[in-house]
Amino acid sequence: MKYVSTRGDKKSKRLTASQSVLKGIADDGGLYVPRKIPQAFLSPRDLAGFNYNAHALWLMGHYFKSDYTPAELVNCIDSAYNSKNFSSPGIVDVKEVGDAAILELYHGKTLAFKDMALSLLPHLMSAAIKKVKKPKTQIILTATSGDTGVSALEGFKDVAGMKIIVFYPENGVSVIQKQHMITQTGGNLRVVGVRGNFDDAQSEVKRIFLDDRLNKQIEAEGYEFSSANSINTGRLIPQIVYYFYAYSQLVKGGMAADAPVNFMVPTGNFGNILAGYYAKKMGLPINKLVCASNDNKVLFDYFETGVFDSNREFFLTTSPSMDILIPSNFERLVYDLVKPEDGLREMLVKLSGKQKFNMPVPKDFVGYYADEAEVRAEIKKVFDRHGYLIDPHTAVAHISHEKYGARVGEKNVIVSTASPFKFAKTVMSAISEKYDGYDDFALLEQMAELTNSAVPAPLAGLKNKDVLHPDVVDIGGMKDAVLTMI
Ligand SMILES: *Cc1c(COP(=O)(O)O)cnc(C)c1O
Repeated sequence: MKYVSTRGDKKSKRLTASQSVLKGIADDGGLYVPRKIPQAFLSPRDLAGFNYNAHALWLMGHYFKSDYTPAELVNCIDSAYNSKNFSSPGIVDVKEVGDAAILELYHGKTLAFKDMALSLLPHLMSAAIKKVKKPKTQIILTATSGDTGVSALEGFKDVAGMKIIVFYPENGVSVIQKQHMITQTGGNLRVVGVRGNFDDAQSEVKRIFLDDRLNKQIEAEGYEFSSANSINTGRLIPQIVYYFYAYSQLVKGGMAADAPVNFMVPTGNFGNILAGYYAKKMGLPINKLVCASNDNKVLFDYFETGVFDSNREFFLTTSPSMDILIPSNFERLVYDLVKPEDGLREMLVKLSGKQKFNMPVPKDFVGYYADEAEVRAEIKKVFDRHGYLIDPHTAVAHISHEKYGARVGEKNVIVSTASPFKFAKTVMSAISEKYDGYDDFALLEQMAELTNSAVPAPLAGLKNKDVLHPDVVDIGGMKDAVLTMI
């Protein structure tokens, strides 16, 4: 299995899986994709007896076994998906709620679905480095507006051959996210606040990446920069696993082994739902991939009209991980649908440049969107009916389930990407206005009481943890902060 760039031509280099994991993004600015999406060689009936890690080994073997040995893959998978990192014995849970199933992907260390990939990626990178002739210590550079930073820190913490530095806008993340980051333990990491907004921090990280002199300087010391970006193949492929796992759990529960299912996916960068598309192409009996958007409904408009147009007003919503106008992984869908001779390159340039383009809509997808009032109402409605709390991202997907409808002979699976505890403020104020006066930490206790459960371990006690990373710098000080990692 070789990987090629979405923007490459016949002469472009083909990479092995481990090379693509280390490189992240191609020199031509494209994303790496498998040359051919493989066919699954087991059926959902066969898989029903597999646990999560066995699903992961089987699925990832299709993409990675050309240069990762089975023993290396087992080691990576078991280092990621275990009871230390995940609070659910099943790693992910599939629950029947009303007439749909809910796929809970938030039982990892940071209570969001990004843990599914970011707990594995560091181990895939670590194994990949060992295949390189003159290995260098990787310094992962990350600017974060919240979720990714917390999840990346947990994932890369104390992984051999890796160091990580995370920059966050001093006043641009939630109280809980900030507390999570500045109390982070681990011997190979640093967290630094930045006086500026997320875009400023992100731009400076890009400049540091491209700084030739700095790169030479750190290479001389045995280091190189790397990223844990959501476009890395080492993040995409592990996400295919839970589509198969969800399906085989339903089969285990009595569903026919070839019954059509629909997945409702709350979408931002199009990474999660793209993994579902790969699962479908591999042969999983998925009928529709339902793309659920918030007010930033670029994808909804595309699936309705066939016109992709990112050039529009940007909205801040209560589902911040979906506040995205250029979904970076959409490039991989365009690559899959458009032939080079039909203007692939021109479309990709337009996509990244926020220029409008047309592309026939594939019948695998349907789009819906929900506004902020609908999200609040849905959180309350689902709780009142089923006693089940959902976070605002999951609420967007739940609304798409209701808009698509429960159809005879088709099972709807709602993909739940974050714990409601992570978004306690929005969730509790949607349930009742009596919660409006509480602070973020007090609300966790209120939510635990309401749901008859305990505050999840990663959040419990966060308030009283020691601050280990008090540093805040100006944008101009970020480069010096990076140099202290050497
Ligand atoms: C990142 C994220 C999403 C969006 O996933 P994409 O792969 O970017 O489409 C949805 N919900 C939550 C909670 C997230 O953290």
